[in-house]
Amino acid sequence: MGALSHCLRRLHPRRRQDRLRTPYRRWRRCLTQSPLLWPLGPVERARLRRLSGDFLARKTFTGAGGMQLDDSMRLHIATHACLLILRLDLDYYAGFHEIIVYPETFMVDYEEEDEFGLVHRVRRPLSGEAWEQGPVILAWRDIAPSGCPHDPGASVILHEFAHKLDMRNGAANGMPPPHPEMTREDWTRALTAAYHALHASLEDGEPGAIDPYAAEDPAEFFAVLTEVFFAAPERLRAHYPAVHEQFRRFYRQDPGARHPAAPQRPCGPGLDSEWRCPDCG
Ligand SMILES: [Zn+2]
Repeated sequence: MGALSHCLRRLHPRRRQDRLRTPYRRWRRCLTQSPLLWPLGPVERARLRRLSGDFLARKTFTGAGGMQLDDSMRLHIATHACLLILRLDLDYYAGFHEIIVYPETFMVDYEEEDEFGLVHRVRRPLSGEAWEQGPVILAWRDIAPSGCPHDPGASVILHEFAHKLDMRNGAANGMPPPHPEMTREDWTRALTAAYHALHASLEDGEPGAIDPYAAEDPAEFFAVLTEVFFAAPERLRAHYPAVHEQFRRFYRQDPGARHPAAPQRPCGPGLDSEWRCPDCG
């Protein structure tokens, strides 16, 4: 009894602290509006609530371009960022402090080299961007909960924070630092074969199951397939089983095992962006 009450005394302040950080009603509303979080069990939900509370305490959110951020918006971003590290640790997001949010897509200037070696200056609208050792930038319009079960409105968040994990060992290259029980060789073999297979299917004009943007470079391949791993794990396992296995080891979770009987999501984040189910229009 003595040991039990000692444990309760130790746990109680932590639980109170969690409640203060993320009020229950706000947390419930966040879960309700986020289909990607629905399959999580009570233990995982509690862990995610605690992680996202710590994330909110450590990171700075800045509204840009007239964006007025409220606590629910910050929580929406934090929970989806923390879904990636649910079985890892908040230290995986060390090295940057700020999340900047615009109301709409934002314009970014790039220098691009063409096939003749000429450098062109181009402007592109972006929904999200992750800077190496810098902020994550998001467009609220493209990450807000939409209410459509096939479009969780969070794929951009998963994508940009996957880049952040990738950048833990330098510039994004599709290879975040592997865990000790993993090998670089297994990772490279699985992702390289899948990357080449995607390129081959695109060159053959085959309708893809994966957003063609994944073929841009290995860093985008990792980020887009991370979206698919969380939003449509059955699809990733069906098309690229070796990549699915490497992701399961890296993220130390298996989203497909949470709802084994759930119907496959026909469209949504990371999938072929040309196709939408009737619900999505
Ligand atoms: Zn990207």
